[in-house]
Amino acid sequence: MAEVAIRNVRKSFGAIEVLHGVSVDIADGEFVVLVGPSGCGKSTLLRMVAGLEKITAGEVAIEGHPINDLPPKDRNIAMVFQNYALYPHMTVRENIGFPLRMAGTAPEEVARRVERAADTLGLKPLLDRHPRHLSGGQRQRVAMGRAIVRQPAAFLFDEPLSNLDAQLRAQMRTELKELLQTLGTTALYVTHDQVEAMTMADRVVVMRDGVIEQIGTPLDLYDRPVNTFVARFIGLPS
Ligand code: ADP
Ligand code: MG
Repeated sequence: MAEVAIRNVRKSFGAIEVLHGVSVDIADGEFVVLVGPSGCGKSTLLRMVAGLEKITAGEVAIEGHPINDLPPKDRNIAMVFQNYALYPHMTVRENIGFPLRMAGTAPEEVARRVERAADTLGLKPLLDRHPRHLSGGQRQRVAMGRAIVRQPAAFLFDEPLSNLDAQLRAQMRTELKELLQTLGTTALYVTHDQVEAMTMADRVVVMRDGVIEQIGTPLDLYDRPVNTFVARFIGLPS
């Protein structure tokens, strides 16, 4: 059974359809990377899975249960954004605990789970700092902490590394991949960076103009790109 099933999902803004029927099955524990040029509809698709955007047609299901009508907080999905969206006036501890406090979790339980998340991410020495006193990589880790603290069924990432410089991006790529492998979580990861997609993904989804061109392992795409768009996009001569 697919952990996250996206079935024939469409999205229109007014009269303009930007997603034309997109289907992706993400297996339990699988890391799927959605890649495509800017404006092709990646963020819109993620936002629909997260419940931040209404689905025009089609269905999203988690563990077999349709979630189209569930509010974001009831979806058991964590989303990590490009700009981290950390609260500047809160400490690392408060930032990580925020989703639990919002959900009404008891303070002792919040404290316990924040400690555990911080431990997993090597953030324990930084728990009382504010975001402005952290490096880019540390902020990224706090954003991850805020996502894992809820122990979600699935993670969504919207270009989480695109604000980092090249060296840090390469390091975080490896770190993030290892962390997700350790946690064994299902993830849908959006990027416009082909290298990120080909090095991190169990499977890659290549999208163009609101349509999926190909889904496959990185090796599938190298060996058998279905068309010149896919071949060019992943950097093969065509
Ligand atoms: P990507 O994340 O791949 O860069 P987006 O999902 O942000 O692409 O956008 C896909 C298309 O939908 C773009 O043409 C964009 O202009 C349009 N779009 C996104 N959000 C809205 C909105 N709230 N209202 C109208 N059009 C939108
Ligand atoms: Mg986007």
